[in-house]
Amino acid sequence: MSERVLDWSWRHLPAVQQPTWPVPEVAEQATATLKSLPGIVDIQECDQLRREVAAAADGRALVLQAGDCAERFDTSPESTSATVRVITRIAHVLSRGVGLPVVVIGRMAGQFAKPRSGATEERDGVELPVYRGDVINSPEFTLAARIPDPRRMLTAHRAAVAKLGLVRSLNREMFVSHEALLLDYESALVRWDEPSGRWFSASGHLLWIGERTRDPLGAHVAFIAQLANPIGVKIGPTCTVDEVLSVIDRIDPAGEPGRLTLVARMGADRIRTALPPLLRAVVRSGRHVAWMCDPMHGNTIKLGAGRKTRRFEDIAAEVARFHETLGEHGVAPSGLHLELTGEDVTECIGRSPALSERDLARRYETACDPRLNRLQAIRLVHLTTRTFRK
Ligand code: PEP
Ligand code: MN
Repeated sequence: MSERVLDWSWRHLPAVQQPTWPVPEVAEQATATLKSLPGIVDIQECDQLRREVAAAADGRALVLQAGDCAERFDTSPESTSATVRVITRIAHVLSRGVGLPVVVIGRMAGQFAKPRSGATEERDGVELPVYRGDVINSPEFTLAARIPDPRRMLTAHRAAVAKLGLVRSLNREMFVSHEALLLDYESALVRWDEPSGRWFSASGHLLWIGERTRDPLGAHVAFIAQLANPIGVKIGPTCTVDEVLSVIDRIDPAGEPGRLTLVARMGADRIRTALPPLLRAVVRSGRHVAWMCDPMHGNTIKLGAGRKTRRFEDIAAEVARFHETLGEHGVAPSGLHLELTGEDVTECIGRSPALSERDLARRYETACDPRLNRLQAIRLVHLTTRTFRK
C-alpha cells in the first residue's frame, strides 16, 4: 500500500460481472478523462470513517448504511432529500434506542453498478442484455438502452459529485458508499495521497465487495486490498471458513481497526446455521473485524408477475437472529445495511403498513431490488432496538 506505484496485476485475475464495452477505445478515453478529474471524496474523511467503524467493531458505536439498491442518474433532489431524511430519522431512533452514537453511511453518490445473476433478460420472447446499473446501461427494455456505454462513467462521476453535495447540505456528517463493482470506473478514481503515502479510492468513503465478487483470488479483492479506505465484504450462506479467513488476510493483513467490515446477508432461514461457523472461525483466529447485518439480500423472493419482493417479517427476523447469534459468540453487532427509500413505495410486503402481493403493482419503482419504504424502515429500526444486545 505504501509503494508509490499502484499494483495493476489484478488486471490479469478473473474479474466477474464486468461489461463488454462495444468500442474499447471509447472506454479508454472515458477512463483517461476520469483519471484527470478531481476525486469525489477526500482521504481525511475516509480515515475519519475508518475510526468510527473501529468504534462500532468495539461495540462503542453502530453503523447505519442505507439507500437505494441501484441509484439512478435522474433521481430528483426531492426524492434524494426524502431518503436522506428517513435515514437521518432512523439513525436517531437507533441511537436513542440502543444508547450509542450512530455513524451514518449512505448507499449513495456512486451506487450505480449492479451485479446480476444472468447476462440477459427475457420478456415476451424478446431477449436483451441485462440492466447492470446506470454507470453501464439503462433499464428501459430496448436494445439501444441496454448496450453498455462507457461514457456513462463520466455521467456517474458528475452525478456522484452533485449527490454528495446535496446529501451533505442535509446531513453534515453523513458518509457515502457503494459496491466497488465496475473495475474500469473504480480504478480510474484511485488517487495517491502524498502526505500519508497511501493509495485510496476517491469514489466513496467506504467501498464494499459484493457476494458475487468476493473470491479471495479474484480481481476485486486484489484491487481493493491496495486502497486505504474502510472496506466492506458481503458474505452469504455459501461462504466457507477458508474464504472468510482468506478475505480477511488479503484485505486486512495488518489487523487495522475499522479497516474491514463483514456484512452478513444470510437470509432469515439460514443465518442460524450459516453464520456461527464463520463467526467462530474469525473469533478463534484472533482477527477483529466489524460485523454488520444486511437483512435484505438473503430474503429476496419472486412473486406473481415475477416481481422481486421481500417480506418485512423475514427482514426483521434476520436482524433478531443476527443479534442472537453474535451475542452467543460474545461479538458486538456493528450495525445494519439496508435498502430503503424515503418514498412511499410498495416493494416489500408484510404487516404494518399492511402490504400484500396485490399492492406491489401500485408503486413499484426500484431499478433493481425491492426497498423498504419510510414507515417500514422506521418500524424495522424500532424492532432492531428491541433485539439489540450490547
Ligand atoms: C446489493 O447490495 O445490492 C447486492 C447485490 O448485494 P449482495 O452482493 O450481498 O448480493
Ligand atoms: Mn440490492
